[in-house]
Amino acid sequence: MTQPDSHKLSLNTATVRQRWKLDQIIEGCARHEIRGIAPWRDQVQALGLKASARLIRHHDLILSGYCRGGMFPGSTPEERREKALDNRRAVDEALELGAPCLVLVVGGLPAGSKDLPGARQQVRDGLSELLDYARPLGMPLAIEPLHPMYAAERACVNTLAQANDLCDELGDAGLGIAVDLYHTWWDPQFQQQIERAGLRRLLAFHICDWLAPTTDMLLDRGMMGDGVIDIRGFRQAVEAMGYTGLHEVEIFSQNNWWQRDPDEVLAICKQRHLEFG
Ligand code: ZN
Repeated sequence: MTQPDSHKLSLNTATVRQRWKLDQIIEGCARHEIRGIAPWRDQVQALGLKASARLIRHHDLILSGYCRGGMFPGSTPEERREKALDNRRAVDEALELGAPCLVLVVGGLPAGSKDLPGARQQVRDGLSELLDYARPLGMPLAIEPLHPMYAAERACVNTLAQANDLCDELGDAGLGIAVDLYHTWWDPQFQQQIERAGLRRLLAFHICDWLAPTTDMLLDRGMMGDGVIDIRGFRQAVEAMGYTGLHEVEIFSQNNWWQRDPDEVLAICKQRHLEFG
């Protein structure tokens, strides 16, 4: 088990979103024989939900996840209610697209707040409510822990241990974890926590590289092989738990990959996935 199966590659559409719309991305994946795709909600809305589902099916692509729900905390009950309703719509869309899970970036501090424990409680409550909706419909929810530098603005679930704690508390049915190496590679408990997660909680696996030094906390992700993450080692650790799902490449890169011809980016993704994935 050294090289990854090239059929396991999936493209998170953010990777080429600056230059291509969703229909072009779907067609690009088909052209490059990339079998998996993880579309974003705004792109699906732009193309139309039914048209997106049809085009994905037409090209025999499969989803590695749907991006994304979450952002639970809010300053007022009304704001939280609005977010809850929007998350339900995201579940419905994920079902229509045939996604294996809805990926959740859970949200950070509400505007003006310094109450991190309170934000985490709001995440727990929002997640619990969304589970009540998603479970009977059969749409799994995947909690994606984000690197701690995102705790204020994007996600106050920052470690695999926190995600496992939420699964323990809320129950495993229809709930699991999206393991993104960009966010979790530094975690000294990585191995221990994926063992604790076990196969049933491992719903998605996202890859890219951590550039050293990194120049932007959001938009400077690296292509596999250009940074310091032992992607192959982590991939093998996750697959040793029985994970057989796709390897989703998700690269936000304002000054490099987003500037390039998307056909070139896809070709390099494929090659680097084989070399380093
Ligand atoms: Zn991710």
